[in-house]
Amino acid sequence: MNDAIIVGGGLSGLAAAWELTQHAITPTLIEVKPRLGGSIVSERRAGFLLDGTHMLIEKYGAWDFLEPLGLADALRYIGRYRDGRLVVFRDGTQVLIDALASRLRANILTRMAVSGIIQTGKGFEVCLENGIVLTARAVIVAAPAHHAAHILASLTPQAVELLDYRYDPVARVMLGLDASAVTPQVEQRVEGAPVRSVEWFALPERVPPGHVLLRAGVRLDVEPAINTAESALALIKARVAIAPVIEWAHYWAEADPLTLYLPEHAALMARIDAALPAGVALIGSDYRARRFDARIQQARDAARRIAHYLAR
Ligand SMILES: Cc1cc2nc3c(=O)[nH]c(=O)nc-3n(C[C@H](O)[C@H](O)[C@H](O)COP(=O)(O)OP(=O)(O)OC[C@H]3O[C@@H](n4cnc5c(N)ncnc54)[C@H](O)[C@@H]3O)c2cc1C
Repeated sequence: MNDAIIVGGGLSGLAAAWELTQHAITPTLIEVKPRLGGSIVSERRAGFLLDGTHMLIEKYGAWDFLEPLGLADALRYIGRYRDGRLVVFRDGTQVLIDALASRLRANILTRMAVSGIIQTGKGFEVCLENGIVLTARAVIVAAPAHHAAHILASLTPQAVELLDYRYDPVARVMLGLDASAVTPQVEQRVEGAPVRSVEWFALPERVPPGHVLLRAGVRLDVEPAINTAESALALIKARVAIAPVIEWAHYWAEADPLTLYLPEHAALMARIDAALPAGVALIGSDYRARRFDARIQQARDAARRIAHYLAR
């Protein structure tokens, strides 16, 4: 029997696995995709460093996880923000994923999806979609809400409410452009529905000299023809009307949670937490923590609770 199984190998699942490792527990981590990192991916193209998810991150207080992960010098400070700062990871946000993954002592199973968890007299049976059943004394579910609703359904009927979880469907588009061609008129043309956000960057480590990086969020399904990452890319390219040096477009369905910000959401999470058996934790960006560092903290706190549960 496994001591602990973690479902989902995104930032939350990896941070939980790292914390368990520090408590001398070797978890089994199950990730449906071929790679770890979930929504976080960084890529270099033609001198541009592209972050598919967070690039500018709010930082409040000390991040005590950086040094043990070998990332003490990994941040570049951009400026003040509220009572904290805005930072970027110099080499892309994925360095955090790579650092976590390289320091784990975990059995990692990729390309395997968890479909459900059953409580038994001795612990839990974790059922995979391929028919394999693994047993564990404790389970941490670090998957987005719609997946977690199915995974946890047999443990508590409350979890089914997570099927109503809603996201804002936004595709991310990035274009690398020759800076001399970007006039105020070009900048103005990009704005306007269904474009939700527009950012222009010329950070030295991320954008080659003489260029700018345009990052736009395009809300899908507002206009019938703009309903995929490819159509969002085509829209932005048409508005910019400059041949890009590089282009990138992606749609991650669970990128922009809406339900997280509803006033009644905290009460739902409290009901689910109370209904889950001891030895099961639900973590991830859909549930509680709104900030990047708070999500890591949430995962580490849950892993500590599971470590204490296993030690009892
Ligand atoms: C485009 C985009 C932009 C973002 N921008 C920001 C930002 O600016 N600031 C910010 O704070 N946050 C941002 N986020 C959110 C950010 O990605 C999350 O905070 C964080 O990365 C989520 O980590 P997670 O592990 O909770 O979830 P995820 O990264 O979604 O990881 C969940 C993992 O579970 C796996 N999984 C799902 N179902 C199963 C199953 N049944 N069995 C096994 N594995 C399963 C998935 O494949 C995935 O790898 C952004 C996200 C996206 C996609």
